[in-house]
Amino acid sequence: VSATHPTILVVEDERQMRRFVNITLSAHDYEVIEAETIADGIREASSYTPDLVLLDLGLPDADGLEFIRRVREWSPMPIIVISARGKEDDKVLALDAGADDYVTKPFGASELLARIRVALRHAVRSGESAATAIAIGEDVRVDLVKRIVVVRGEEVHLTPIEYKLLALLLKHAGLVVTHKQMLDQVWGPGHAHQMQYLRVYMTQLRHKLERTPAHPKHLVTEAGVGYRLRLD
Ligand code: CA
Repeated sequence: VSATHPTILVVEDERQMRRFVNITLSAHDYEVIEAETIADGIREASSYTPDLVLLDLGLPDADGLEFIRRVREWSPMPIIVISARGKEDDKVLALDAGADDYVTKPFGASELLARIRVALRHAVRSGESAATAIAIGEDVRVDLVKRIVVVRGEEVHLTPIEYKLLALLLKHAGLVVTHKQMLDQVWGPGHAHQMQYLRVYMTQLRHKLERTPAHPKHLVTEAGVGYRLRLD
């Protein structure tokens, strides 16, 4: 594992998809390791400790969820799920099991590379002391120490719940956070089905932070899965 050429493990049984991913990643100076089954994937993950894993969920010997659970017992390595369109429930299960993000098939090279960069940056940041101030686009500045949010030069008051939601999304900036993760961490376990709370507060937050709340640029909905905060 080298800092200049991150190693990416691709666990995928479709040969065409593995080939596409391998060519794309190799062209961008990533080292690529391939596995066709969960058993191989777990073996490669533990022998090479890759910097990131791209994981298909439908594999011949077991479900991709099994890989996530097993790896999470000993490693926080970023895992991006490669998922088929219309399989929102599978994505949610994978994310709640500990995957960091997903890309939906069919995806383009630029989308895949962008997701990988975000996940690798997030992994580096988690290992460092947290940033104290974060910019969201050109308009919003968040001071995480003073808990102050400034929008276009004006301090904006957030309720404690709104602030917690924003802080959680900031912690995973660029990555998807599931509805369950948001409800569990902001309202506490036992509120996992109270989606209406989440919608109400996310709408409020958009009205406070976004220029056009009906078409949010930063607090983005991931249909059927959760929300993603885009910083740029
Ligand atoms: Ca498959």
